[in-house]
Amino acid sequence: MSLALPGIGVSRGIAIGKAHVLQRGSIEVLESVLPPHLIENEVNRFLQAVQNARQQLESLRERIPPGTRADIAAFIDTHRLMLDDATLVTTPVELIRELGCNAEWALKLQRDAVVEVFDRMDDPYLRTRRDEVDHVINSILRTLLETVENESHGDADVLDQAIVLADNLTPAETVLLEHQGIAGFATAYGGPLSHTAILARSMQIPAIVGAYSLQDYIHDGETVILDGVQGVLIAGPDANTLQHYRERQQQEQQRRLDLGRLADTPAVSRDAVPITLMANIELPEDIKVVSQSSASGVGLYRTEFLFMNRIEPPGEDEQYEVYMSVIEALGGRPLTIRTLDMGADKEIDSGRKAGCNNPALGLRAIRLCLKDLALFRPQLRAILRASAHGPVRMMIPMLSNTHELHQVLSLVNETRNALQRESHAFAPDLPIGGMIEVPAAALTAADFARHLDFLSIGTNDLIQYALAIDRVDEEVTYLYDPLHPAVLRLIRMTIDAGRAAGIPVAMCGEMAGDPRYTRLLLGLGLREFSMHHTALQEVKNVINTSTIGKLEPLVAELLNNTEPGRIPGRVDSLNQDLH
Ligand code: PEP
Ligand code: MG
Repeated sequence: MSLALPGIGVSRGIAIGKAHVLQRGSIEVLESVLPPHLIENEVNRFLQAVQNARQQLESLRERIPPGTRADIAAFIDTHRLMLDDATLVTTPVELIRELGCNAEWALKLQRDAVVEVFDRMDDPYLRTRRDEVDHVINSILRTLLETVENESHGDADVLDQAIVLADNLTPAETVLLEHQGIAGFATAYGGPLSHTAILARSMQIPAIVGAYSLQDYIHDGETVILDGVQGVLIAGPDANTLQHYRERQQQEQQRRLDLGRLADTPAVSRDAVPITLMANIELPEDIKVVSQSSASGVGLYRTEFLFMNRIEPPGEDEQYEVYMSVIEALGGRPLTIRTLDMGADKEIDSGRKAGCNNPALGLRAIRLCLKDLALFRPQLRAILRASAHGPVRMMIPMLSNTHELHQVLSLVNETRNALQRESHAFAPDLPIGGMIEVPAAALTAADFARHLDFLSIGTNDLIQYALAIDRVDEEVTYLYDPLHPAVLRLIRMTIDAGRAAGIPVAMCGEMAGDPRYTRLLLGLGLREFSMHHTALQEVKNVINTSTIGKLEPLVAELLNNTEPGRIPGRVDSLNQDLH
């Protein structure tokens, strides 16, 4: 009998495949005291487990497909090296002998000691290394407990074309899973605006979040259908259901092909207003598709993904090389590099989370960078150096007061002077823009606009912070409302402030890539949209059938509406009528 579990569809498309349940979470370890004659056996059992964990990593390393990003392989190599480290191998052996305890317990004691050292570190970036150590220790524990490591580091063959089911996935794990060829994923928790969901859309992997209890109802190896459009997961489908979804899969492919035909058409409204459509990218490899698309450039490059799945942050030269490769692929189109936006759901520091209940309000994005200059400076240098070779723009995330902006601008000046002394080339007039994604920044957008070359509205965070709802919490997703009058007014204020200062205002949050809001945004005065490349043609289709001169008065009137419930109906009629 088939079973349908509802969730929130966050990435379009239908996937049909075998369920692969990720078994994770902390492993419970019990202490036992061993008689002296069993101690050496236990030591051997431990060393064998380390050897097995090594072999698993080696076999995964061998199966990485050619062309995979070098840092993914390097990440696995680093875990492999940790398995040779005395801290993880020799000390537990000594503990087994000294305490006469079981291998699992010795390993747990050593883990507690190592984690404590990491937790005491001041550097938030270094503290993230704790997770790596934990991951490696868990891989030994799992082999000791004879459970197979099924995580994102798991068996690549098993994951190929699988539909992964998990409580939750971090963006870093999602990148690794995509490299292992999964067909789709569903998580019990998480919201549609989480970075994991954004990544799924950009990688075109069908995905669902907020499908509670999925692990209670769906078993490993069972055939499942994941419908990322309707947000439903169907286990044990009968032949008719399978047939229906296979047809829907074909229709979806056809829809993409049809929209692809618009690629060479410019985005111009019926009353001849040209609109700039840019793409958002997460990973340097996304640029391949974007460079072949009709995007006028990249309006948001989320560089934090370069910092994930690795032990050390990328250094200045590595970042410079990556930025150069993206500039080259864009062939003269502008590239907006956003400085590191680590933190919140793009985990920088899970060790700190115990004492940090609101990571989205914590040390994130520009706050983290200004605190950790050793992390920030190499990126500023790399961006400036890259700016000598193409139309680069630099964008600062999560500004909440102009003091932060002045700090950044003075660091940029310092960096320029240092590069000049070292005879490095850079564009002296590199445009610097700010993201408006904190309500305080929207309300004072004019103050930011005075010192910046452009603004870009990050609606994912702007809505989260304006409406006080966690964008990754599926329980409050129903309150995540881009049409809330407060949100619309904050957007309007930002656009007006940019206009008054004579600088461009773009939007790069998910709202910009949702065709339901295109006409509304045109009517609000938005002329630059940046979105994941899969949405470009659909949004363009709406622009090319809209008359901005007619939309503007209707939207101005809609903004006077103080009754939130009435706005969606007005937006529907904007979309239906021939405007
Ligand atoms: C946003 O907040 O709208 C945005 C584009 O940034 P991110 O989604 O990476 O937080
Ligand atoms: Mg943001």
